[in-house]
Amino acid sequence: MRMRAAVLREPGTPVLVEEVELHPPKAGEVLVRVAAAGVCHSDVLLADGALGPGRWPMVLGHEGAGVVEEVGDGVSHVAPGDPVAFCIVPACRTCRECKQGRFNLCIPAGENGPRGTLLDGTSRLRLPDGTPLQHALMTACFAERVVVAGASAVPLPAGLPLWQASLLGCGVQTGFGAVRNVGRVRAGESVAVIGCGGVGLQVLAAARLAGASPLIAVDRDPQKLELALARGATHAVEAGSATTAARVAQLADGGVEHAFEVVGRPETMRLAWDVLRAGGTAVVVGLAPVGVEVALPAIEFLSDKGIRGSYYGSGDAVAELAEVAALALAGELDLAGVVSRVEPLEDVEAALRRLRTGEGVRTVLVVDAELAGRAAG
Ligand SMILES: [Zn+2]
Ligand SMILES: [Zn+2]
Repeated sequence: MRMRAAVLREPGTPVLVEEVELHPPKAGEVLVRVAAAGVCHSDVLLADGALGPGRWPMVLGHEGAGVVEEVGDGVSHVAPGDPVAFCIVPACRTCRECKQGRFNLCIPAGENGPRGTLLDGTSRLRLPDGTPLQHALMTACFAERVVVAGASAVPLPAGLPLWQASLLGCGVQTGFGAVRNVGRVRAGESVAVIGCGGVGLQVLAAARLAGASPLIAVDRDPQKLELALARGATHAVEAGSATTAARVAQLADGGVEHAFEVVGRPETMRLAWDVLRAGGTAVVVGLAPVGVEVALPAIEFLSDKGIRGSYYGSGDAVAELAEVAALALAGELDLAGVVSRVEPLEDVEAALRRLRTGEGVRTVLVVDAELAGRAAG
């Protein structure tokens, strides 16, 4: 079928909405009508060619929600009419990593994601001239419809507006998983969140729900710090000065137990290390362009400090997405609060530009206002 989708022709050119061809779902796959999609920093990195060569032409978008329209053979966990959020790592549940519970590191999903294909190694997307288009992170939801692996379509509870649920599949899962699965933050532990954008504010929400105290927000943008305070941060510290680390450490009686880096730059990764107390751990959530390196003062390994990465929440996204969706439905997690703009799909390039300059937090692109439960504007 023909549909409209936001196509990255090549880095450095604007991402425009154009007509593309979508092929029907194969066995194990699902066709979903997209309601709304969140614009994430990874979309910018892909659009800028910063995640490596050969990743275009591509239909962008990996954070979104919609309604199932058709299922391929063998799919029984969802049926036409069901609301779903997209999961960017459709874990096979049989590979070595999946068997050890590291579903976010699923081997076949990890191979096909960067290739821009679904699990069988092929794409369902074509330009009108027949050129294959890659699926962004096995999803490609800046589009009227997607065909995704069955495991990428995660059922949502009824009643959650899809323009809000669109944030669950990347930003929320990434942020909550980092706090719950990697940091394992407990009540009364000190936390610093460095970078309070779309994902950082989810880290903050998860840390607040875990009972972190103090909960220190760090960002260079005073507006984002305001949002962080409204979301339960106990303190806000402006980043970018020589005294930032010392000020965070002072608020946490010498240093925090957990620092979450949600920016993807060497200087903020270093800051996450510098604000730790002895025995503390820095969790790097931010996605850095290929080639970026970070330097640490190695003598400090002597104080039991640790640093580790986290990809896509480092857990079982399917189970955890259902949990955070229930939290949102119960009013314990405010999804709307991180959305700074709601725009039509056609405005995708402007949304990418705002993310490049750090303006605002999350833009949600409305693809189908009726399904999304909200019109653009
Ligand atoms: Zn993302
Ligand atoms: Zn697997």
